[in-house]
Amino acid sequence: MQSLKEKDKLYIWHPYTAFLPAPEPILIVKGKGSYIENDEGNQYLDAISSWWVTLHGHGHPYIAEKIYRQALELEQVIFAGFTHRPAIELAERLLQVLPGSLSKIFYSDNGSTAVEVAIKMALQDWWNFGETKRTRVLAFRNAYHGDTFGSMSVSDRSVFTRAFEDKLFEVVFIDTPTAENIATLKNLVEQESDTIAAFIYEPLVQGAGGMKMYDAVLLNELLATCKSSEVICIADEVMTGFGRTGRLFASEYAATKPDLICLSKGITGGTMALGATACNQRIADAFMSEDRLKTFFHGHSFTANPIACAAALASLDLLQKTSCLENISAITARNLSFVNQVSACPTAKNARACGTIMAFDYDSGRYDYLSNVSSKITAFMLERGVYLRPLGNTVYIMPPYCMLMEELDRVYAVIVEYLKLDRA
Ligand code: PMP
Repeated sequence: MQSLKEKDKLYIWHPYTAFLPAPEPILIVKGKGSYIENDEGNQYLDAISSWWVTLHGHGHPYIAEKIYRQALELEQVIFAGFTHRPAIELAERLLQVLPGSLSKIFYSDNGSTAVEVAIKMALQDWWNFGETKRTRVLAFRNAYHGDTFGSMSVSDRSVFTRAFEDKLFEVVFIDTPTAENIATLKNLVEQESDTIAAFIYEPLVQGAGGMKMYDAVLLNELLATCKSSEVICIADEVMTGFGRTGRLFASEYAATKPDLICLSKGITGGTMALGATACNQRIADAFMSEDRLKTFFHGHSFTANPIACAAALASLDLLQKTSCLENISAITARNLSFVNQVSACPTAKNARACGTIMAFDYDSGRYDYLSNVSSKITAFMLERGVYLRPLGNTVYIMPPYCMLMEELDRVYAVIVEYLKLDRA
């Protein structure tokens, strides 16, 4: 009889995974708190929150209970023409906690679709007003916003997009702001703004692009210029949202607030697939028309899935507890001191932290996604009971908020062990 792992190899195509050389998949059978456990009973500290989604730990009984109850009551219903309590309550609560004054939530089911929705809303906003010149999008170099065609288009060209480059729409790419380039960036926005519909950015931390961090004050300057040039600002908080940067949303660090915010990943505490795009009244107003052509013709089968919305409400309950906010602060402080510690090691370059996210570039100091350092480091960590998945040579941690300080210290210790062994 074939084992589960053999069947996996036969039948499954895994994300971002080459067929050759065929990697041995790890069969995970259980998750509890900060740990995931394989079929041989080995436990691993999930130091990257299972692709940045798990906020309160695996198998959280409170969220599990809410999911179970919702599944018994109403598991799914078409969301055009129908509505339900979990979607309504979640929209109300999200709008209460999101920065700025946002007024509507549009649901989808993942981060890429949350981004697609935002881009389409921004482009159609101008189209609905009869403006035909404002059709280009402004985005940061090194950005990553998802894997669908629209979200790939606004992501910097990279190994992720190479096979599709001639199919992606035109985007004006600019560097993330620095003290040196901010004046040039602002000038560019002012000069080009009559052809620019929207600016999309990952606030403070560029995640898949290598956990690159940049300054909130400079971001604010750029946003203020966009706003005064009527460029619609789209914050992609798919990764940074729900406490990752130390505050509930990274957009809180800049005084100028976005017109649209994209959410997913941690929205359900990492338990169910859900995407949400929040917009302000300016965007909503562009669609307030009896002309049917001005409708936003977009939707997904699982839009506002009731179980996912119930999970998101439960996750928000936990996130807003004082104990959770204290854990976020504790992880933030611990990360900062680890940045100091690890900076002493010559092979750990550009050590940096932003809230619960800590990163450094191993050895070369230059981001290289295809570097094979990643799989070596992952294997080393797994042998020591820690799960990390560096982005190329960028090693980072993004723990669930339930991670105990002694567990976090173990993650740091294993990283230091790797760096020291490597120097020996
Ligand atoms: N935006 C950002 C900032 C992301 O980090 C990601 C996923 N890593 C996405 C969008 C796409 O999300 P998803 O994988 O859920 O489609």
